[in-house]
Amino acid sequence: MLEFLQFPCRTDNFGMLIHDPASGLTASVDAPEEAPIRAQLAARGWRLTHLFITHHHGDHVEALAPLKAATGCTVIGPAAEADRITGLDVHVKGGFRFLFGNHAVDVIDAAGHTLGQIAYHLPGAKRLFAADCLFSLGCGRIIEGTPEMMFASLERLASLSGETLLHCGHEYTLANGRFALTVDPDNAALQARLAEAERRVATGAATLPVTLAQEKATNPFLRAGDPAIRAHLGMTDADDLAVFTELRRRKDKFKG
Ligand code: ZN
Ligand code: FE
Repeated sequence: MLEFLQFPCRTDNFGMLIHDPASGLTASVDAPEEAPIRAQLAARGWRLTHLFITHHHGDHVEALAPLKAATGCTVIGPAAEADRITGLDVHVKGGFRFLFGNHAVDVIDAAGHTLGQIAYHLPGAKRLFAADCLFSLGCGRIIEGTPEMMFASLERLASLSGETLLHCGHEYTLANGRFALTVDPDNAALQARLAEAERRVATGAATLPVTLAQEKATNPFLRAGDPAIRAHLGMTDADDLAVFTELRRRKDKFKG
């Protein structure tokens, strides 16, 4: 059984360690900040063997070089961003599968926030590491890609089993939820999720992971087909991509 350890890094990034007791391997999903990652490794007595990099942004790769220098770990990351990330050893892209110990890791194309972003899915453990593509109650800003690209990426992630536990690059749930309520105000599942997230944050706990089933019931960016959201936007007859694009446009302007 794999062990998963989630902890805060930087202002609102998540650190994530995956440990395989059978093989002794330990991976960090992205490398947001050296000190907390090393502290968590030391506290558990784990030796870092792998980095699973999702995209080239500084808040995800800042600690890549020092962690690699200190541990000699193998750095896996997006082939499409290999020219923008120094130190990648293994280039992967959507559709690739590799083994971590005896555990399959599937790479999913999650482009849109950046052009080459990838997500990592561990089907055996039912865990998804969606980085800055899918957030709880939200999605990443479309910085390099197009709405079409982001929409297709979100559909790929949302097509995984509803029992899958979603991990994200950032703790953005409350801010996302406040926006979500403006476009889906009568959604009781969303109201309940936001109340639960507020309780968790008030006690210093993380709002993640969350199941994909719950996200599909509450996250407006996965609900472009929902009649209530469409009616709220005055887009009853629009296609899903147009609804998604309008949701993303409104979120970009939203001052919560
Ligand atoms: Zn990013
Ligand atoms: Fe980020």
